[in-house]
Amino acid sequence: MTRLVLLGPPGSGKGTQASAVQSRWGIPHIASGDLLRARVKEKTELGERAKPYMDRGELVPDEVVIEMMAERLSESDARQGYVLDGFPRTVAQAEALDERLEPMGQRLAAVVYLRVPEPEILRRLSGRQVCPECNAIYQVDTMPSREPGVCDECGAALIQRDDEQPDVVRKRLEVYAVQTRPLLDYYRGRGLLHEIDGTIGVDNVLARIAGILEEAQAGAAERVE
Ligand code: ADP
Repeated sequence: MTRLVLLGPPGSGKGTQASAVQSRWGIPHIASGDLLRARVKEKTELGERAKPYMDRGELVPDEVVIEMMAERLSESDARQGYVLDGFPRTVAQAEALDERLEPMGQRLAAVVYLRVPEPEILRRLSGRQVCPECNAIYQVDTMPSREPGVCDECGAALIQRDDEQPDVVRKRLEVYAVQTRPLLDYYRGRGLLHEIDGTIGVDNVLARIAGILEEAQAGAAERVE
């Protein structure tokens, strides 16, 4: 049973790592941004409410995201654990997650913070492409698709996200600094935070995450004994 949270600024590699964790450990990758974008695309009521915030690079109100995530986390595949990408993003969201886990006697295995300096983030996001069908992520310089503009996984045409224009990216980084960075202290205080240099390469980051998960599992086994 592995419940992992990935933290870090936009472009720090959370999505890439979370999908690698999903393939390697068979736990679902749950990305709040992907869930929100799907609802925007389907024009559901929640999607219509979330869209203006997302277009401006602001956070969608906590109550909207918390309700959406509560639903997703109660689906049956999440019983075996999950890797969360993009949630929690505020202290209120982290508290809501704790309030969900505690009554069930559950806890997070670890919170991994991917540290990446801002100039590197701006470079990464300016060349990021995503698949609108299967949410695979590419980077034109460092992680290109085999055929330019075409998804390796499903063959759909890749796009640049609407919120990846330079002024919206700057806004998202500001929002991260003010609303999400405080989560580092929140989880540090609970002894859950592990920091990884997010610039050491995709495979090296994944190897560090594997080490952290093994350590967490060993710790959990000790608590049971
Ligand atoms: P990134 O991590 O690259 O910023 P995401 O795909 O996680 O991108 O999020 C895109 C947008 O979706 C955010 O800018 C925000 O508007 C909204 N969003 C995603 N997750 C949350 C969340 N947990 N709380 C509030 N808004 C969210």
